Amino acid sequence: AAKESGKASWVRFEPRMRHDMTEYARVASELHDAILGGQLRLLYQPVYDLVTGRMHGCEALVQWQHPVRGFVPPIDFIPVAERSGLIVPLGAWVLRESCEQLTRWRAEHGADTIEAVNVNVAVRQLKDPGFVDTVAAVLSDTGLRPRNLILEVTESSVVDGPQVAETLGLLHEMGVRLALDDFGTGQSSLSLLRAFPVDVLKLDKSFVDGIADGTDRGRLAVAAAVAQLVEFLQLKSVAEGIESRAQLERLRDLGYRYGQGYFMAKPLPAAECGALMAAEPMAAVTHG
Ligand code: C2E
Ligand code: MG
Ligand code: MG
Ligand code: MG
Repeated sequence: AAKESGKASWVRFEPRMRHDMTEYARVASELHDAILGGQLRLLYQPVYDLVTGRMHGCEALVQWQHPVRGFVPPIDFIPVAERSGLIVPLGAWVLRESCEQLTRWRAEHGADTIEAVNVNVAVRQLKDPGFVDTVAAVLSDTGLRPRNLILEVTESSVVDGPQVAETLGLLHEMGVRLALDDFGTGQSSLSLLRAFPVDVLKLDKSFVDGIADGTDRGRLAVAAAVAQLVEFLQLKSVAEGIESRAQLERLRDLGYRYGQGYFMAKPLPAAECGALMAAEPMAAVTHG
């Protein structure tokens, strides 16, 4: 079925595939080669300050350039990487590569041009006993301050158990910032915010979709409530998946300080992202 549906979805890892161990083993083995063979690359999606139009940071998003199948999106291999444990070396590569890239950008465009790089972290990585040391080594090798790194974790990762809680505590003590990704889609959002050292809430794209036409009161209510929560708790808010000027304006009116989405910029190769940095502030944001 995957073959028929075309190249882009050649191996979507659906739950039924959990039983198809041959397919799973093939992807895992090819992914292993991909990590060693340099088939992974990072794209960077700018996070804009919606008030000043300046680029606050960038989120690193991994891509697999498969030699035969072409571009494979993360949803088709991150779950395999998690299940096989390959996410540990893969994630370490993402972390190092994106921190090195931030250092290059800051050298090229000035340290006040871009403050942070956002790196997605899977629960499997947070459970790895070497994770905190990996982060510390990357920061020391790249000369970045801990606050220049924002680790994006999901609500379900955070509630995984005491081991993850301890890791997050150690990272927070180091000064690394934590963002709750896809916020609003998880189970126990509110109690999480009291129990964990969260710095940034990223409102999930599903609440941003359709927010501007005024017909979806439910999503609007969630977006508004999250904005208030952020203000009371003195956190930072990022709205994900902004695709239109109307959404941007609405979110900014609600109090969202930061935003990310195709309306401003798609995930880009490092050089193109650097060019946007040199061209800021972005007029489409400030005049939106
Ligand atoms: P995420 O962390 O929530 O990343 C945001 C996703 O939304 C990205 O998809 C991005 O390209 C997409 N996006 C951003 N703005 C828009 C928009 O305006 N419209 C639409 N339709 N989409 C938008 P992508 O690159 O396919 O990544 C999907 C997920 O894969 C990520 O979701 C993240 O959970 C995971 N992922 C990506 N890279 C990594 C990584 O290095 N490590 C780990 N553990 N997970 C990763
Ligand atoms: Mg993310
Ligand atoms: Mg997200
Ligand atoms: Mg998401």
